[in-house]
Amino acid sequence: MIHIPAGLADLVAGAKSIAALTGAGVSAESGISTFRDAHGLWSRFNPDEVATREAFLRDPVKVWDWYAERRVQIALAEPHAGHYALVEMERRSREFALVTQNIDEMHRRAGTKRLIELHGSISRVKCFDEDVVVDEWDATGEVPPRCPQCGSRLRPDVVWFGESLPIDALGEAIAAAQRCDVFISVGTSGLVEPAASLPFEALRARAAIIEVNPEETPVSPFVRYALRAPAGEALPALVRAAWPGSELIGG
Ligand code: NAD
Repeated sequence: MIHIPAGLADLVAGAKSIAALTGAGVSAESGISTFRDAHGLWSRFNPDEVATREAFLRDPVKVWDWYAERRVQIALAEPHAGHYALVEMERRSREFALVTQNIDEMHRRAGTKRLIELHGSISRVKCFDEDVVVDEWDATGEVPPRCPQCGSRLRPDVVWFGESLPIDALGEAIAAAQRCDVFISVGTSGLVEPAASLPFEALRARAAIIEVNPEETPVSPFVRYALRAPAGEALPALVRAAWPGSELIGG
């Protein structure tokens, strides 16, 4: 059982504004592969072949099928106690924003309301040429399907390597980091920019940083508290310590 220091519980319960940043690690216990761990996706796949514009132009079928497979894996997964603890944190705190690098919609499915998706969502598709989200298209059997407006190919609405982040989401994430007095970094290796800079934006605004990650990361030297445990254990324990009597799903 993980120990939550009294000072940490008081810090979270007394926060005026909490910003949380999550990465692939928060979904690991739901059975969704991370990117960079020993068994992560990039130990088995080359990102240049499946997660860039060039890869899509070279072999759109391969890229579409790769995401289709991941979509199935994600559809079969369920949010866990850590995702639900963040929902309870939002309910209990004065002000809350959850910034995620994940494309798996687990936070939305768990019930988080103020969610900022930095890297898009695997459940949406958009037109490769026009960059607009498309909800319906003709099921001709062609892979990838075509945009009903312009006939260009459809692609997943996720941010690939070398692409810019959605400008509105990035602006909201930076504002949340600058406004918060408690910033919680969960399950991210802190290696992918610009998300990796968000804890440092919060630090500059004098927020206290809490890290939830079994491993150390580049942000570790700057944190006030580190919970070196899986998110599914650490987050419910943190919420229960901050707000005794919290009702937690799966925790
Ligand atoms: P990453 O794979 O680089 O790092 C994962 C981090 O999570 C590591 O620091 C690891 O120690 C930690 N971790 C592993 N298990 C954990 C657990 N149970 N609890 C808490 N932490 C745990 O992930 P990242 O930093 O998010 O990398 C960035 C990119 O990965 C993002 O662009 C994101 O879009 C993408 N990604 C998303 C998903 C998803 O949507 N679930 C999956 C894989 C990759």
